[in-house]
Amino acid sequence: MGIKVYYDNRDFKECIEYAFETIFRCFNLKNYSFEIGKGSGFEKGIFYGESCPNDFKGVFIKSSLLFSDSYLKKDSIPRLPVQYYEDIPVLFSSEHAPSVTSTLDRTTINFDIVQGSFFCVTGYDEIVDDDIETDNHSRVSHTGKLLYKINRFEKPVVNMYARLLEKSMLELGLIDKRFQRKPIAHISHDVDRPFRHQPYYYIKRYLQSKLKVHIPMRLEPGFKIIKRAEEKYSINSSWFFMVGGNNPWYDFCYDIGEQEIQKLIKSLEESGDEVGWHYSYECGTDMYLFRKESQIFKVERSKIFGRNHYLRYRIPYSWRAYQKSNLLYDSSLGFSKAEGFAYGICTPFELFDAVNRVNTNVWEIPLIVMDGTVCDSAEREMDVENAKKVIKNLMDEVKNYSGVFSFLWHNTSIKKKGWKKWRPVYYSTMAVLAKEFECLLGEEIIKRYE
Ligand SMILES: [Zn+2]
Repeated sequence: MGIKVYYDNRDFKECIEYAFETIFRCFNLKNYSFEIGKGSGFEKGIFYGESCPNDFKGVFIKSSLLFSDSYLKKDSIPRLPVQYYEDIPVLFSSEHAPSVTSTLDRTTINFDIVQGSFFCVTGYDEIVDDDIETDNHSRVSHTGKLLYKINRFEKPVVNMYARLLEKSMLELGLIDKRFQRKPIAHISHDVDRPFRHQPYYYIKRYLQSKLKVHIPMRLEPGFKIIKRAEEKYSINSSWFFMVGGNNPWYDFCYDIGEQEIQKLIKSLEESGDEVGWHYSYECGTDMYLFRKESQIFKVERSKIFGRNHYLRYRIPYSWRAYQKSNLLYDSSLGFSKAEGFAYGICTPFELFDAVNRVNTNVWEIPLIVMDGTVCDSAEREMDVENAKKVIKNLMDEVKNYSGVFSFLWHNTSIKKKGWKKWRPVYYSTMAVLAKEFECLLGEEIIKRYE
């Protein structure tokens, strides 16, 4: 029973079914099944293919050319400028003018929302475009992303496609009500520097190894301030700790085994927070190191999840490493210099390796806003009111699609020099999230979507 989804391109079975699953999750459609659609005798449902059988009733989505010989070739990336249907960007279409037309029994979407969604959530442009712009941390730069070039980090394109399909299904009576629920917020903190006065820490570490005595260190004050704010609103959050690293410039700020850190982790967990792993700088490109750190982290925990330090990942290699280490979820997908829906979606989804055509079954809660992206950025002329407005617009989008707003605020971004003026941005965001969103831990969010 449920909704029948027919498609005719069996060569791309995995990609097509994965894309539909991702779209359906955006409006909480769980009851469906797939079938290769040939001949006649179709049940009312969805048909995805080059042409629609005469006797088919339901939603027909006309397929485009990504799932063909051009797959994974550079010329399969959409050319600019893209077309639009209303305000929805059309990334793949075999028609000149995008349209949605309806008769009594059939709605035809003549552009390919399946391939468009697949392109966004698999990071397809990052895999296929070898000339994509990178930055000084060897990360793909947001400016290289197609969705950024068409100014669509501010609206979740996949959710827009899903809404269009949901609307068509409602009108045809395939489903009976629109998906609406209180939006969810995932609040997280990457612990890069947990101690006051980092240089003292290095001195302490040196003395400790020489003298073989414990020298106490004071924790950075951001932890207490953040906890106080979260307690005020009865919010629990996720804290991602580093367990190693080998880059002398970007790692080595603490050792997870230290007394102060262990005590901190214990108190966070006792308060109901979730503790995850902040994969070190080189983990994004060094799969051996990723595995090694994951094993350290796994010693005390049955489930592992977290985020890349410096949001440094490489698709699909990092995702393969996540799969091998059995990550429950990752929350790295985003760009440090541009907030918003970089992968076109505000609904958690499973990471799909587009090269091997394999669903890794690792969940992703895409990152939408990080503190340093909107506040105190050297590249942007942003003031407090603007920063609040930018975040508010993104929260509104997530609300509109009943998605998950993933918000990262570092413990060090409270008391850091020059950051006092940005504190209202943190507090006002927290106030809205507490009032209008359901604030959940990552693990709880994944349970909702599994
Ligand atoms: Zn970090």
